[in-house]
Amino acid sequence: MAIDGRVLISGAGIAGLTLAICLKEYGEDPIVVERSAALPANGYMMDFFGSGWDVAERLGLTDKLRALRYPIDKLQFVNADGKSYASVPIARISRALDGKYVYLRRPDLLRILYERADSLGVDIRFDTHIENLQDEDEHVNVTFNDGGTEEFSLVFGADGVHSEVRRLMFGDESQFARFLGAYVAAFHLDEHDFPVGRAVQIHEEPNRVAAFYPVGDGKLEATFVFRLEEVDVPREQQLAFVRRAYKGAGWIGEALLNAYQGSEPLYFDTLTQIAIPRWSRGRVTLLGDACGCLTLLAGQGSHMAMAGAYVIARELQRYDGNHVPAFRAYETMLKPAVAARQEDAATFAKVFIPTAESKPWLRRLVIGAVFNPIVLPYALKAFGSNTILEDDDV
Ligand SMILES: Cc1cc2nc3c(=O)[nH]c(=O)nc-3n(C[C@H](O)[C@H](O)[C@H](O)COP(=O)(O)OP(=O)(O)OC[C@H]3O[C@@H](n4cnc5c(N)ncnc54)[C@H](O)[C@@H]3O)c2cc1C
Repeated sequence: MAIDGRVLISGAGIAGLTLAICLKEYGEDPIVVERSAALPANGYMMDFFGSGWDVAERLGLTDKLRALRYPIDKLQFVNADGKSYASVPIARISRALDGKYVYLRRPDLLRILYERADSLGVDIRFDTHIENLQDEDEHVNVTFNDGGTEEFSLVFGADGVHSEVRRLMFGDESQFARFLGAYVAAFHLDEHDFPVGRAVQIHEEPNRVAAFYPVGDGKLEATFVFRLEEVDVPREQQLAFVRRAYKGAGWIGEALLNAYQGSEPLYFDTLTQIAIPRWSRGRVTLLGDACGCLTLLAGQGSHMAMAGAYVIARELQRYDGNHVPAFRAYETMLKPAVAARQEDAATFAKVFIPTAESKPWLRRLVIGAVFNPIVLPYALKAFGSNTILEDDDV
């Protein structure tokens, strides 16, 4: 490939690091800037399979994924006393996905990607972000937070759901944000004595759901998803906001939030998708959550972020570095797949969190049916476990 000039990627997240690896392997020398001071040590739990797995396979990273070990044998729904009423062994999920599946924490994936990028010699600059962008046709002028200005041939916005590159190129986030009527908050406990055993436990009540993940060494991760109107929640009020939402919650939801020693959640946001008519403008393009955030309810945001990165690099290679047809091909291929998953996630958001009118017996019947060994592979396919990458890529 011969991109005529330097390449900048904003965001050392899942999309940004994957793109940096792919471009480097095609012989380019991308620079990655990351606003945070370092890779995160902690982060929420994720399911990893589908297109993300396929990209990891092509990058030779699946051994590292398989080496991740968490003391999780099953996924179960529990009642207010912690008694399981629906359970599925993780081995069954893995079998349904031909063994191409792991539970991991977001920082695990970031570390694996970072180590590969680093070993390839990718220039990754932490504590650095873009202050301004000016597309001058022949190149893009970029001003960084230290006041320095540099010229790049191509700029990639892989800076997540609240992308700054998107704001600078396409305008305010509110134009593209689709609030799904709920919030998500994640917590990490370094030690605990909650009786979760070796299972991911999910407890649901009207308008609130909580999932608890034992991650070994006495540590616990928890994710809370709850339905509320959209309001502005300042950072210092986030913990109190979640505690209020789970007041009186059954099983260990309320107790865990009370036991939490931190001053704010590890992660807190509205459940908001990003739908933007064009992903590229001139020499700048977006990828990952920046242009197609699905929300956690799709269970595959990281897969699409990696697939997007892989496809952009591949199209640039196919068109010998010419960004115009490459960006067009990337958008034409990825956007329908993202839009379909966003639709599914928006529909799922309505049923994932029970309402006051939901019938518990009916929900239990459906959950039990989905966990059935015969139904499960079909359910996972409907949930997007199929790769979106072209056959000739697989
Ligand atoms: C609770 C939760 C559970 C989830 N579960 C799953 C799951 O099970 N499976 C799955 O596939 N997906 C899941 N997702 C979605 C998945 O995490 C995202 O879709 C994925 O992380 C998107 O990758 P990304 O690289 O686009 O963005 P991110 O991973 O968010 O990375 C963006 C990067 O850009 C950096 N950044 C931000 N602003 C700037 C700036 N101005 N300048 C420079 N850098 C900047 C950030 O620090 C970050 O490093 C989940 C999400 C949440 C919140």
